[in-house]
Order: sequence, then C-alpha cells, then structure tokens
Amino acid sequence: MEERVTETGLLRGAALAVACAIMLSACSGDLVPRGRVASAPKPPPPVRAPAQPAMETRQCFAKLQSQAVAFTPLPDRNFGGGCSAVNSVKLIDIGVPTTGIGAITCNLAANFAAWAKFGVQPAARVIFGAEIEKIETFGTYNCRPIAGSGKLSEHAHSNAIDVSAFVLSDGRRISIQKDWDGDKQTRQFLKIVHASACKRFNTVLSPDYNAAHRDHFHFDMGGRGGFCR
Ligand SMILES: [Zn+2]
Repeated sequence: MEERVTETGLLRGAALAVACAIMLSACSGDLVPRGRVASAPKPPPPVRAPAQPAMETRQCFAKLQSQAVAFTPLPDRNFGGGCSAVNSVKLIDIGVPTTGIGAITCNLAANFAAWAKFGVQPAARVIFGAEIEKIETFGTYNCRPIAGSGKLSEHAHSNAIDVSAFVLSDGRRISIQKDWDGDKQTRQFLKIVHASACKRFNTVLSPDYNAAHRDHFHFDMGGRGGFCR
C-alpha cells in the first residue's frame, strides 16, 4: 500500500515541479518523499542475462522505428586493437537503396537515413527530375587508423560511412571521384547533398579536404561536430 502514489502526493509533486520550473536551479529533481524511498521493496538481485541496451540506445532504436527504418540490433562487439561495434545495427531498409553498409552505430544510421531521405532524394528530384535509385558506399566498419595518423578512425567503431556514388532513375551515375568537378548541374547536386550532410553529421569530409577523400564523402558521428570540409 505504501507504494501507491496518492492523488495528494501527485498534486504535491506537480506543485513542486512548477516551483522548480519557476526557481530553475533550486531543486535537485528529487520529487519523491524520503520516507517512500526508504519503504520501497528491495530490488531483485542482478541477473546475469545479456545486457539491456542503454537508455540512449533504446531511444535511438525507437527513433529509427519512427523513421520507418528496418533494422536489426547487433550485439556489442569488441574486435581487439581498440576496434569495436557498440550500439550498432544492421540496416535492412532505410527507404533509399544503399549498398555496402555493414555494422553502423544507431546514431549514425538515424542521421544517414534522414540524410538519404530528406537531403539526397529531394535534391535529385529538384535538380535532375529523377529519383535516387541507389546510394553506393565504401562501407562503415573498418579497423584502421586515420590515413597518415596513429589515431583510430571512427570507422574502427562502426561510427563512420564513406559515400562514393549516386545512381539515378534515368540511368545516370554520379560518382564523387568523376563528378566533383563535373558539369554545373552535377556540381550543384553534390554541393547540396554535402551541405545537407554538414547539418546532420559531426564530421563531413569531401575531396576538398584532402587527396585521401578524392573519391568519397566521409561522414561520422565522432568529435564535437561542426567539422565540414
Ligand atoms: Zn571514411
């Protein structure tokens, strides 16, 4: 019976929440009377079952579902050498056919799916009057350092993806390598999808960044964000 939250208790909590909102910093967020915490039943002993994904990951899975993305959660894996695939999924359908995607962190997957649907597809319709039939990638997970550095790439954490080309419904294929300096229309398309990527991913690298990126866009969710080249 002690567990039941009374109407009076709810009202008191609501009043306190309002007071907190007004005073902003004065409350620590503990709206449960101390006596109630003390009388709560002891939690069951920890069960050594497969770990539940963290709250953040479960929220991300829910986000993918709300985006109508079909996916399978992958078990967290440690591959040694600092390489891992944690909070990752296998994408089945993001709404735009995409090749080469392996294990990909949920956060990156959600942003990639949104970029494909709301950045790439509309740009192709407006500029070429065509649909995107396929986005080609060089993949996601790869246990390797950043080119020319001893530091592990975000690819080593399945937290990066390399996009190499776009195939249109009129048969045209736009590749980063061939078309980055292509005709005006194609350059405009690539500029738009690049700018759209910069709004969604923490790091975006294009052929403008360095020679290692002459044939693809690199997107990752590492770092603090705002790195757009
Ligand atoms: Zn990359």
